[in-house]
Amino acid sequence: MMSKLQTIQFTSAHLPNGTPSEEHPLTNPGELLLCRHAADNTFTNPNFLLIHAHKNPFDDYQAPMFAMLTASSDDTVRPSADPLKKTFWMKTYSENKGILEQLEAQNILKRTGEKVNQGYVTLIGVETVLQRGQWSETCHGCGRLEQLDSVKPRMMRCGKCKDRYYCNKECQAAGWPAHKEDCKRICRVLAL
Ligand SMILES: [Zn+2]
Ligand SMILES: [Zn+2]
Repeated sequence: MMSKLQTIQFTSAHLPNGTPSEEHPLTNPGELLLCRHAADNTFTNPNFLLIHAHKNPFDDYQAPMFAMLTASSDDTVRPSADPLKKTFWMKTYSENKGILEQLEAQNILKRTGEKVNQGYVTLIGVETVLQRGQWSETCHGCGRLEQLDSVKPRMMRCGKCKDRYYCNKECQAAGWPAHKEDCKRICRVLAL
């Protein structure tokens, strides 16, 4: 059984309070989802971002993304002992300032204690407190975001590695040539 997507409450100093309107399509309080993005998805530093949990009639959703959380790095962050959880390097500076604290307070992410210096900035190792199934996925065939763009409520996953997600059989077939080698590698790492 798929577990339920867990929404994240957020308030932003840049947004007014109240119900959305034509003038203010986004208002406080808002609801976000943690989303694993398939583009350039690496197994050791998966791409996580925050997306808006709902569309509303006043927003044409040019930008479903609220924030990109993962920072790219050649260093490997230690994998979680729990195969249903993920670790990644998080960018906590500039536009992401204060986001980690909010996500920790709501039991979405926690720090692993690892850090890596990258030029003038420090990347923070984080682990999801959420488990697979509680965050939204991206179709590895067509790039649709689970919940926002997908027709079905939840996506199906690769039956072999159980780590890549698809809208349907057509998307799985389209994504297979690109996923084939990665699938073997993931199965080896997870010892499936
Ligand atoms: Zn798809
Ligand atoms: Zn696979």
